[in-house]
Amino acid sequence: MDMQTDLVVVGGGLAGFCAALQAAQDGYEVILLEKQSETGGSSVLSGGCLAFAGTDMQREAGIDDSPELLFNDLREVGKYENDESLVRCYVANQLDTYAFLKQAGVKFGATLEASSGQSVPRVHNVDPADMVRLLQARAVATGKVTVLMQTAAQRLVVDPADSRVVGVTATGDAGKFVVRGRAGVLLTSGGFCRNAELVHCYAPQYDNAIFIGGEGNVGDGLRMAQKLGADTCDMAYIKGTFGKHPTDETNHHSCQCVYKGAIAVNQDGKRFVDESISYKLLGDACIAQPYASAFQILDHRILKSGDNSVRILDFERRLEEGLMIEAQTLEELAALIEVPVDTLIATVDQYNGYVDAGDDPDFGRRHLVHEHGALVRIDQAPFYAYPSTAAVFGTYCGLRVDDTLRVIDVFGDALPGLYAAGEVIGGLHGAAYMTGSSLGKAAIFGRVAARSALAALK
Ligand SMILES: Cc1cc2nc3c(=O)[nH]c(=O)nc-3n(C[C@H](O)[C@H](O)[C@H](O)COP(=O)(O)OP(=O)(O)OC[C@H]3O[C@@H](n4cnc5c(N)ncnc54)[C@H](O)[C@@H]3O)c2cc1C
Repeated sequence: MDMQTDLVVVGGGLAGFCAALQAAQDGYEVILLEKQSETGGSSVLSGGCLAFAGTDMQREAGIDDSPELLFNDLREVGKYENDESLVRCYVANQLDTYAFLKQAGVKFGATLEASSGQSVPRVHNVDPADMVRLLQARAVATGKVTVLMQTAAQRLVVDPADSRVVGVTATGDAGKFVVRGRAGVLLTSGGFCRNAELVHCYAPQYDNAIFIGGEGNVGDGLRMAQKLGADTCDMAYIKGTFGKHPTDETNHHSCQCVYKGAIAVNQDGKRFVDESISYKLLGDACIAQPYASAFQILDHRILKSGDNSVRILDFERRLEEGLMIEAQTLEELAALIEVPVDTLIATVDQYNGYVDAGDDPDFGRRHLVHEHGALVRIDQAPFYAYPSTAAVFGTYCGLRVDDTLRVIDVFGDALPGLYAAGEVIGGLHGAAYMTGSSLGKAAIFGRVAARSALAALK
């Protein structure tokens, strides 16, 4: 029962369905393979934050953002280790993708927030499961997209005559078969955070971390492409995200009180980092602390400045769930979390002094997050502590691609017929991470990759 189509898409997360819908809207047929019994991968588990700049929502909220500022922030947060041409590709196609999502019916939340790596509020917030299901439904409704569930791509099929990737071998209910794509294959199979062995190869320091992500995300696409000689990038920058509660299993999201003014202290009651930096870098700093854990310390004013519509900023919900530890005084709080009382009080006093003086000589913190927001004192009871560790939510590294999303081999040549988008690729993030740029890159690069591949059929 071999099958043929215009484009084979491997993986039914955000990247896969943006690719499929774009291809269908452009008049092409797609077969999308999803190996799990449900589509959605990490996309549906995510916090639903997408990074766009210069949108109508930002203008209406009086936020002065621009594609140039987005470009500069992405480069800066990635410590210039990211691929400039790929960052340009993200920036050039992001507003169009925002419009594409809106046109498909995706609803963005009313508030805009600033988070990791952002100089201005540019988190555009969605219900991620609703978004993926909607895009899937829209794609299938075109009549041009076939989704094969519980069907795993196994290997890439190459035409021996010209070494072009022309399809995949797959296994599903009907056994083993081949799906061929006239324009080739687009890998949107996600990262590999559910493959402990593979993560260990690149980031052994995270061996004991918590791993959260789509169950099927074990690196299939990465390895299929590597078999053909594909190059990789950003592998050295796998990092955990700071702010995951170490023991709570009901809520898998991180909580970023630090980006509204909290400080992070270790088990000794001492600060250890500039809390405004990317939460991936905070993750590295946290994992190096005793017991690989910390507490975010905040007061009532900071608690109230959270945003319950954005999962990573819904502080009050954490309080209601009993995850946030509350006390009327810092002395009581220190006793509850078992850190030395005198040290915690001295740490908070000293920090408040730094806020007043506008100078943090210890860690150089100047803003709430990245270049955004003025620091606030921690002095209004009640006080709170949020236990936090670093959890690996994704690998954010992988196949090297060019700015048309062609997969590049170890000698710098494009592998003909092979494209990749979403978390399976490296190159966009570099050394750290801007909130919203991973869902952003799945949506943006999914569309760009589909168009790039299908250009061959015109
Ligand atoms: C808890 C959490 C919170 C997050 N929050 C955010 C956020 O707020 N903002 C943000 O930008 N990013 C966030 N991320 C990261 C983001 O969700 C992912 O990077 C992004 O969704 C990846 O999309 P994708 O389409 O590339 O992959 P996925 O959505 O993971 O989809 C990949 C799909 O491919 C399938 N697949 C794998 N191998 C095969 C195969 N061999 N054959 C067929 N199918 C296969 C998988 O089963 C899966 O369904 C978060 C991640 C997590 C886990």
